[in-house]
Amino acid sequence: MGNSESTQLTILHFNDVYNIEPRDQEPVGGAARFHTAVKERLALNPLILFSGDVFNPSLMSAVTKGKQMVPILNAIGVHCAVVGNHDFDFGVDTLVQMSSQTSFPWLMGNVFDNETDAPLADCLMSHIIVWQGKKMGLIGLVEEEWIDTLSTIDPDDITYVDYVQQGKMLCKQLKEDGVDYIIALTHMRWPNDIRLAQEVEDIDLILGGHDHDYVIDKINGKYIIKSGTDFRQMSQITLTFENKKVDVKVEEVTIDSSVKQDEDIAKVVNDYLDIMGEEMEQVLGHMEVEMDGRFASLRNKETNLGNFITNIMLECTDAEVAILNSGTLRSDTIHPRGPFKVKDLLSILPLIDPLVVIKVKGQQILDALENGVSQYPKLEGRFPQVAGIMFGFDPNLPTGQRLIRDKVKVQGESVELEREYRVCTKHYLAEGKDGYDMFKDCAMLVNDEEGPRLSVVVQNHFNSVKLLKGEEKSKFQHRQSLIAVNR
Ligand SMILES: [Zn+2]
Repeated sequence: MGNSESTQLTILHFNDVYNIEPRDQEPVGGAARFHTAVKERLALNPLILFSGDVFNPSLMSAVTKGKQMVPILNAIGVHCAVVGNHDFDFGVDTLVQMSSQTSFPWLMGNVFDNETDAPLADCLMSHIIVWQGKKMGLIGLVEEEWIDTLSTIDPDDITYVDYVQQGKMLCKQLKEDGVDYIIALTHMRWPNDIRLAQEVEDIDLILGGHDHDYVIDKINGKYIIKSGTDFRQMSQITLTFENKKVDVKVEEVTIDSSVKQDEDIAKVVNDYLDIMGEEMEQVLGHMEVEMDGRFASLRNKETNLGNFITNIMLECTDAEVAILNSGTLRSDTIHPRGPFKVKDLLSILPLIDPLVVIKVKGQQILDALENGVSQYPKLEGRFPQVAGIMFGFDPNLPTGQRLIRDKVKVQGESVELEREYRVCTKHYLAEGKDGYDMFKDCAMLVNDEEGPRLSVVVQNHFNSVKLLKGEEKSKFQHRQSLIAVNR
């Protein structure tokens, strides 16, 4: 081979896809248009890679456990994927049931099942694909933060290995196998991807997920690419291998309504939408204002959507304080004024989230808020949306000292450290997840079996508003969310 020998290899990358149907606003996305965009590039013989979060959450997955994604991922022709945190929402067995029906391997190289010592959920640690004559090494890495928050997995049953340590080890193996290029498929937050790029020299390219904004960065000479969300964007990456060097070119592909829907996938989508039924189109009520449900807002500050939901939590449980982790609210969009439908509600709250009321000391409330703001400005789901309480924090101070403690007010009063307050939260946080371990041993006033589901109390709230406005008559004289479940 002469020095002028040059090979081009195209990669299509996407991550974090939840809804197969297009949305109303541009870019509309949707699996059918996405598939067309992939097909338009098949002449380039692309390697198609996915960075996790597909089987949940969405209102459809709440019914199907993610089954609709199997034919779609297979049709798109994915060659390799890393698992995401939400792929565990229905437990390891369901994940394995779904992933085993896909036509490609799933990677997760740094979390192990203690029973088998093999990677959790039948994943592979790494995978080699020979493509355009190049030996491509793929590794899958995830972060400890979300492993800690999985509600379906007992932390004692698994072993997590730091992604830098494991990344180095996997790269060494791949190099020994003679690979030409190493791609890390990751599902972690930006600071962790940056650390990976800084500390593992042998990785050539990082294709990430978990964050939903389309961002390209270059750290330590390697690109980190996160390709948006929900079949609205993908990346077309061109690698040009020339001599010992590889040139990388990245292009964002936006899936807007100008892209035609692929008919076969549109049929799959429509069949599943039919399964979901007309129920989803039912109008719950009318919003007088826009509601901000964007991740980038909710995970950094209180929003009117967060206040709306937590106020309902207070109202329906007679608690003094409601604390909800922003990660609960999933729609990642601004909800327009006007009719608010069941499908809008379930896009915000697709998970089955039982509420609880616990007895919490003033000191523990402060600790909880401190935890909530500890990861700012990472867009972490633990950032609190609250009702019945006011607080401020200084993000410039170190983690653990950010809360302005003497300014915190519960029901308009200063916090008494030793007093016990009635706090409504979701069962997940009461179990100590998302860093809220101060809640773990608090006495339960309303437990998760007695407590209502969050999506149900919000739905009930709309019904009670209709009753109050006289738009609907109650058969039983109950005013639903206005009635406490247990005191
Ligand atoms: Zn994720």
